Amino acid sequence: MKIVTRDKIVYSFSSQHKPAEHVAPKEKILLEMADAFGSQVSDKQTSIERLDWSKVNGATGPIFVNDTAPGDTLAVHIKQIRLPRRGIIAVIPNQGVLKGRTFKSAVKAVSIRDEQVHFEDDVKLKAKPMIGTIGVAPPKGKIPTGTLGRHGGNMDVKEMGVGATLYLPVFVEGALFAAGDLHAVQADGEVCVSAAEVLGEVLLSFDIVKGKSASWPVLETRESLAFLTCADSLDEASVLAVEAAVEALMREHNWNFEKAYMFASLAVDVKINQVVDPKKGVRAVVPKEFLTVESALGG
Ligand code: CA
Repeated sequence: MKIVTRDKIVYSFSSQHKPAEHVAPKEKILLEMADAFGSQVSDKQTSIERLDWSKVNGATGPIFVNDTAPGDTLAVHIKQIRLPRRGIIAVIPNQGVLKGRTFKSAVKAVSIRDEQVHFEDDVKLKAKPMIGTIGVAPPKGKIPTGTLGRHGGNMDVKEMGVGATLYLPVFVEGALFAAGDLHAVQADGEVCVSAAEVLGEVLLSFDIVKGKSASWPVLETRESLAFLTCADSLDEASVLAVEAAVEALMREHNWNFEKAYMFASLAVDVKINQVVDPKKGVRAVVPKEFLTVESALGG
């Protein structure tokens, strides 16, 4: 099995980066990941104001996936996530949903054991490990790993965990995949701007869907297919997500727009991924009984 160590880190998605590793479809690859703070924040003594922001939100990679070409879709299977025994949460003034309030920066360490995140001695949550930043190189230029778009990126979708498959449109030869920003647990919204940030190890494998290129990343879980969109506002992101879902339902069932739009109102959940990154992220979630991957990825 190939291993990509956590010193192989990029701070942008770009076709200009030299691949850290090459893999064949179906081959397993283990990515070691730094935490989103670049391991600069160790405990409550660390001043968040002294963070070197150039070392924040890196992604391990990029990985060149053999036989992948522009116009394909890259299927990323998340097979295993290994968490450490400790995570870090931070609040930063002028950040997050409540940035209009006056508050101080603060850092909190949480211990992770028995598959639980111990926020306080008597307040614990089930660990639900997930990858915050995951994507491929855009067609040209570079996109910082802190932001998100059609290429994926800092999407912060809480369901990006073990057992899920993420479908990403491929824009460059080899896709140049990278991922980081691992979370032990995060709720929809990621309201304070950080989750339970952890370093860790992620086991992945890839497949290629030839000649199909989804317009937005699509996340497959056991129950559903979700269209992951983003825009400057939640309103705009919702429009894009619903549009993607309705178009997929039209393809799947050979319905006209009106019928698919009505059905979406009954069966498609619109949920918030996060509201704290440079663009707001939304997902339109379609139960798999009504939609196949093939229709989800396009005509
Ligand atoms: Ca993130």
